[in-house]
Amino acid sequence: MSHYQPDARGYYGPFGGAFIPEMLYPNVEELRAQYLDILADESFRQEYQQLLRDYVGRPTPLFKAERLSKHFGATIYLKREDLCHTGAHKINNTVGQILLAERLGKKRIIAETGAGQHGVATATVCALRGLECIVYMGAVDMERQKPNVARMRMLGAEVRPAVSGSQTLKDATNEAIRDWISNPTDTHYIIGSVVGPHPYPDLVARLQAVISEEMRRQLLEQAGRELPDYVVACVGGGSNAAGAFYHFLDEPAVELVAVEAAGHGVDSGKSAATTVLGRPGIIHGSRTLLMQDEHGQITEPHSISAGLDYPGIGPLHAFLADSRRARFLSITDADALQAAQLCSRLEGIIPALESAHAIAALTALPLQADDVVVLNLSGRGDKDLETYLRELHLA
Ligand SMILES: *Cc1c(COP(=O)(O)O)cnc(C)c1O
Repeated sequence: MSHYQPDARGYYGPFGGAFIPEMLYPNVEELRAQYLDILADESFRQEYQQLLRDYVGRPTPLFKAERLSKHFGATIYLKREDLCHTGAHKINNTVGQILLAERLGKKRIIAETGAGQHGVATATVCALRGLECIVYMGAVDMERQKPNVARMRMLGAEVRPAVSGSQTLKDATNEAIRDWISNPTDTHYIIGSVVGPHPYPDLVARLQAVISEEMRRQLLEQAGRELPDYVVACVGGGSNAAGAFYHFLDEPAVELVAVEAAGHGVDSGKSAATTVLGRPGIIHGSRTLLMQDEHGQITEPHSISAGLDYPGIGPLHAFLADSRRARFLSITDADALQAAQLCSRLEGIIPALESAHAIAALTALPLQADDVVVLNLSGRGDKDLETYLRELHLA
């Protein structure tokens, strides 16, 4: 078995597990006991693959970016997750989890969201399957991310503001957990990244693994080789990176590059570079690397990109960092903005700010002319246009 699969208790090396309140145990245990069987079931696989094809729009193209290749001095392929329905990879996971929820007999879906992207991906699949959808969101985040609140409402979801604490993501998470404890039988909680108590990190990684499955096939078709020299992806919680790395984890010839947000710089006090600044701790029900102060209080992260503005990383990534299987880089707000402009003008593709961090990281790699790089373009930049115009002085 792969070295990078969690053990029976959900540990990747020293990271992972399920640190949950007693009251939540039956809910998580039901999921843990059934998820692998459901994912392996033929009817699930058929329905999942059909929805990925006809609804999400998979396979997403693998695009040889000629002008970026010339610029960076190696062959660069972009995996176009930005072309997925709703504009990012997040829907791969929510499509899978809604089918799982149906098989568990659930009628009601809850989720929490920070920037609103996962909330939109969840509201979308709930509309598709006719399930009730409640999304918890910090009141401050609701104010900051109005277009996504509007999308969720248009899709028929109820957006409930979390008004405690800093009124951001962790408060929304607390509300969602409280809801799940009160509604143990009819409700499924859709977590949006490779975070949370076991089995969520493994469940979400498996549902995103379609990304690297397609990469291998497409690279073989286009370049005559299945294995690139590098796979590069940005890391917030780590789901798009987990999906992009998954089928390369046991291929030591492939260097895996995970790109975190440095914000204003890792030493600036305004950063989200968890592997640089974090120490082991417990967040969101798992033991992982976490930005915290000397009292173990979570430190407020910063990134210009809402999707990377998270104080932890998933336990698989903590293990990949700790074991040095993946190379972790961090990219500042300013460098990500420049990379977004570069990609827009060299390829006619406006990337999400999150994905722009991955592009910027290409500068930091010792690329050779015959190297093949696959970069996971996790999402499209429409949501970030206002930021681009303001920060790049284009307006
Ligand atoms: C949410 C998001 C991310 C970060 O989440 P991961 O779980 O780390 O993938 C990255 N890119 C885009 C476009 C996103 O919407």
